Amino acid sequence: MAQKTVEELNYDFVVVGGGSAGSVLASRLSERGDQVLLLEAGGSGREFIYDLPFLAAKLFAFKRNNWAFNCLPQENMQGRTQYFPRGKMLGGSFIFNGAQYIRGNPHDFDTWRQLGNTGWSFEDVLPYFRKSEKYFGGDNAFHSTRGVLPVSKPPVVNELTMVYLQACEQAGYSLNTDFNGATQDGFGIYDFNIENGRRATTARTFLRPAMQRSNLTVEVNAIVRRLVLKDKKAVGVEFEQHGKVKIARARREIVLSAGSINTPKILMLSGIGDPAEIERHGIQVEHCLPGVGGNLQDHVNVSVAHSSTKPVSMAKSLRVHKLTLEMMKSIVLKRGQVSRSPLEAGGFFSTQPGAAAPECQAVFIPYYPGQGLKIWMPWANELEGHSYVVHVWPNRPESRGKLWLKSANPKDAPIFDPHFLSSEYDMAVTREAIRITRRIFAQSAFDAYRGPELAPGADIRSDAELDHYIRSTSGIGHHTCGTAKMGQDDLAVVDEKLRVHGIGGLRIADASIMPTMVSGNTNAGTIMIAEKAADMMLAA
Ligand SMILES: Cc1cc2nc3c(=O)[nH]c(=O)nc-3n(C[C@H](O)[C@H](O)[C@H](O)COP(=O)(O)OP(=O)(O)OC[C@H]3O[C@@H](n4cnc5c(N)ncnc54)[C@H](O)[C@@H]3O)c2cc1C
Repeated sequence: MAQKTVEELNYDFVVVGGGSAGSVLASRLSERGDQVLLLEAGGSGREFIYDLPFLAAKLFAFKRNNWAFNCLPQENMQGRTQYFPRGKMLGGSFIFNGAQYIRGNPHDFDTWRQLGNTGWSFEDVLPYFRKSEKYFGGDNAFHSTRGVLPVSKPPVVNELTMVYLQACEQAGYSLNTDFNGATQDGFGIYDFNIENGRRATTARTFLRPAMQRSNLTVEVNAIVRRLVLKDKKAVGVEFEQHGKVKIARARREIVLSAGSINTPKILMLSGIGDPAEIERHGIQVEHCLPGVGGNLQDHVNVSVAHSSTKPVSMAKSLRVHKLTLEMMKSIVLKRGQVSRSPLEAGGFFSTQPGAAAPECQAVFIPYYPGQGLKIWMPWANELEGHSYVVHVWPNRPESRGKLWLKSANPKDAPIFDPHFLSSEYDMAVTREAIRITRRIFAQSAFDAYRGPELAPGADIRSDAELDHYIRSTSGIGHHTCGTAKMGQDDLAVVDEKLRVHGIGGLRIADASIMPTMVSGNTNAGTIMIAEKAADMMLAA
């Protein structure tokens, strides 16, 4: 019988995953003429519907173009599981995220540096944030207009959003027009990666223009199964595309950017991780790195919501005929509700004086859908009427989880247990954040709008009642990170140059390398990591 040959391809760099980070890497690494291959498990991501920022709230609920993971039932969430949507096409999770652009607090990066990661203090990483950025507000010490990633403010916001900001001021908080500037504290309108009413993913802004280069090859529907290792060096990757198994070899380096859930999975399938975990599935251990899949973190949030006595919330755009009109407006004129993210405003605050950086983040939405976004038919009553909500969460949670393989089959999703709400600190900060939000909603600015409290409910007051509310209703912020953390301790997976400890020719650049969570949403930080990784790889 004739031996089946495996097709082999040769490049200088191989990038695994074309998401928020991978799209930046493929673009930057191909700038100087090196032969670069990007392998993306999903499709090309050219479906127009993903460009419309408002629709994210619906699109991530569907299984299409989505890894759609679920974690194990959570002991501290009354046995509830949590849904982890993850984008599966060029653009990765950026295709249906909230498009909020928040870098985190300088304190976060200084902490990474204090943990022994030379080159990651805020002063060190600021140039990489600036490098990507095309900032609407002009050049200054924190921002640049010369990058390709648009950062803008929404052209208009809902009336309730302005009432909320007025109430924050009445409650004694300062207003902040730039959470990524001189200070993160205070409340204001968020910045977004939206340009001309369209979501500006890194696939759209970095990768697509770079795909004109003849030295950059992008293969979609190409699922990486494992690394090819030789003498403790990664020399290639094995991937499956249209039913065929192929090998892509890298003359210089391979970089994993498959995201916080799939990056550790690929490492373990390649025999890199906790030996006991790997051997259990009959995989040969290539290198002992017990931290692979550990240190899993995310933001866990709860809602504080009221009904609105005035019919001004976003619900007015959610009747089918109005939504259709808004869609048309967005498609033709590139403006209106569908061209904006629903997460309009919010802020950063502490529950006690003396915190090194704000302990909590709040996101205000001028509509509270309760159990999922409701779109009404023209003939239906507006059953729940108008409403508004704040989602709050601790910025730097202490709860840590773990991820491991289900089997040696690359097609199986990994199993993971985030141990959400296992820390008393996380609970205490969340309780106080609810109380502070209630104080803001009680200000006179809301007098003409405030209906009954819908969540937690006016009679949920004591610590025990609030704890029950948090454990029974909280959701996640979709900021999963930390599962291949950077550091020098026994559980670290990469060093400060993002090189996998003990394995040559292999780096990781995505949200999984964050040793601790950033105080804020994770996309901007992930893009910064990719910018810095590309710089280090080209310099090597
Ligand atoms: C619903 C939702 C809302 C969010 N909202 C915000 C927000 O408003 N602001 C913010 O800052 N952050 C937000 N985030 C978080 C942010 O989007 C992520 O932190 C960021 O996208 C992570 O980037 P990444 O490159 O690490 O992974 P991803 O962007 O997920 O990219 C990983 C890529 O690798 C590919 N891949 C995986 N496995 C393989 C394999 N075996 N072979 C080949 N390719 C593979 C995937 O298909 C994907 O394209 C949100 C996330 C979600 C899910």
